[in-house]
Amino acid sequence: MENKKNKCVFLDRDGVLNKDIGYLKSTDQLIILPGVIEALKKLKEAEFLLIIVTNQSGIAKGFFYEDDLKKVHNALLAIFKKNNVYIDDIFYCPHHKDGTVKPYNIPCNCRKPDTKMIKDSVIKYNIDLRKSYLVGDKDTDIQLAINAGLKSFYVKNDMYEYDKNVVSDYTVDNLAEAAEIIIEISNNI
Ligand SMILES: [Mg+2]
Ligand SMILES: [Zn+2]
Repeated sequence: MENKKNKCVFLDRDGVLNKDIGYLKSTDQLIILPGVIEALKKLKEAEFLLIIVTNQSGIAKGFFYEDDLKKVHNALLAIFKKNNVYIDDIFYCPHHKDGTVKPYNIPCNCRKPDTKMIKDSVIKYNIDLRKSYLVGDKDTDIQLAINAGLKSFYVKNDMYEYDKNVVSDYTVDNLAEAAEIIIEISNNI
């Protein structure tokens, strides 16, 4: 049997899939960004796994509970499913070293740009990182891609200052543009 490894697009959540409102904590705050549904569909048709990797330190900081986060993620997956989009998995980091809520107020190796969420995905889904991509809207996302050996797409935004020393492979306006480029590259490999 052929042991073919999977290719994956790792997706930051806030600012890439849904509007980043800062510490989003309830389902009524979920606003899917324009073009996201179609972009995810195209990536799926191109046989990419779709895995969300998201820092959610709001849990460690006491802004919301892990249960709230699970409700938000279930709602997000339900919106996508209603539109025939299937996300393969969501990995999140609930930690922050300066947080106040036990047991989350610890240093960890899953908070982006640390790579545990990617490494866990690779094991769980047999992913070939050389054929995989990450789309994010912060320098920490791009640094994660660099640390993990993924090609990176920086989604331009005015919300966060960006450390220019962290160089992405591509800079795009949104996920739709990233998806187009990803599909074009993967067709040429
Ligand atoms: Mg983000
Ligand atoms: Zn963590």
